[in-house]
Amino acid sequence: MPFVDGPQGDAAGKVVRPPMLSVEGLKTHFPVRKGVLSRVTGYVYAVDGVSFSIRKGETLGLVGESGCGKSTVGKTILKLIEPTEGRMRVEGHDITDLGPREMRPFRRTMQIIFQDPYSSLNPRMSAGSIVGQPFVIHERTAGRSWEERVAELFERVGLRADQMRSYPHEFSGGQRQRIGIARALALNTKLIIGDEPVSALDVSIQAQVINLLMDLQEERGLSYLFISHDLAVVEHISHRVAVMYLGKLAELADKREIYLNPLHPYTEALLSAVPVPDPAASKRKRIVLEGDVPSPIAPPAGCRFHTRCPYVEPRCRIEEPAWREVRPRHWVACHLR
Ligand code: SF4
Repeated sequence: MPFVDGPQGDAAGKVVRPPMLSVEGLKTHFPVRKGVLSRVTGYVYAVDGVSFSIRKGETLGLVGESGCGKSTVGKTILKLIEPTEGRMRVEGHDITDLGPREMRPFRRTMQIIFQDPYSSLNPRMSAGSIVGQPFVIHERTAGRSWEERVAELFERVGLRADQMRSYPHEFSGGQRQRIGIARALALNTKLIIGDEPVSALDVSIQAQVINLLMDLQEERGLSYLFISHDLAVVEHISHRVAVMYLGKLAELADKREIYLNPLHPYTEALLSAVPVPDPAASKRKRIVLEGDVPSPIAPPAGCRFHTRCPYVEPRCRIEEPAWREVRPRHWVACHLR
C-alpha cells in the first residue's frame, strides 16, 4: 500500500514515496500487577495513540519532560517492547507483527544510540569488538576482515584506529558516545533512534557529537528520531519537531515554525524555558508550569494537559482535543487552536 507522508497525510493530499518510518496510532501500555497472584490492576498508558512519519534523510526531534513516553516510543519502534495497538512501517513494510526472525533484516537498518554510553557498552569487551559485533553476528563484512571495517568506522567517527584495543573505561564520555555511533553505523543503517544521545555530555562535547551526527546524515542519507527533554538541543539537529505530553503528541511542525509560532500551551511553556542570548530583547515571557506531570496510570480526562494549562476552559476537562493540521504541516491538539 502506498504511503502518504505526514502524520495523517501530506498537506496537499498527495501520495508520495513511503517514508523511512511511519507510525500510526501507536499505543504501548504496561500492565500494573499487584498481590501474590500478580493480578492486573491497571495499566501504565506510556504511549497512547501517537502518529508521525520520518522521511529519508530527515531528523524528527521528539521532545517532552521525563516520563512522557518518548523513550518508550523509540523502544517500541525497535520492537524492544511490543506495541499494544497501532501500526509501524519501515519503508512501507509493516513490521508491527513481525517475529524475531522476520525482524532480522529490519534490525540491520534500525539502530539505537543510548543516553549513557558507558552503561550501554560492555566493560569487558574492547571498543573494537563492541563496534565489530554486528559484523560478526550478521556476517556482513563485504569480503574484508571485520577489523578493517571497524578501523574505518573508528576513523569516520573521530577515533583513532589503534583505540580499537582499548576498553570503554579508557575513553571520555564524548569518545564513548562516538563508539556508540560507530556501532550504530556498522551495518546497512538507515534509521537511528537517539535516546537522549547527548544529554549526559558537557555542552561543548554535545555540539561535537551533534555535528558528527549531522555530517553522517548528509553523507549516508540517514534518518533520525532524536529523543530529548531539551528543546535547545533538538533545535540544532531537527528538521521537524514533535512535542509529547503524557503519552500523546501535543504538537508537530517544521522546526522553524514550531520555534517561531508555537501553538500548544505546553510547547509555549517548554520554549519559554529555553535560554536565549539576550533575555532583555526577547519577547518570550517565561511560563512556569504549576504542578507535576500527572501519573500515566490515571491520565486526566479530556485534554491531558488541562491540570497544568494556563488557558484551561471547562470543555478541556471533558473533551479530548482532536489532532488537527491547523496550518500546512503544523499539527496540534488543543481546543483553542
Ligand atoms: Fe490547554 Fe485546553 Fe488547549 Fe488543553 S485543550 S492545551 S487544556 S487550552
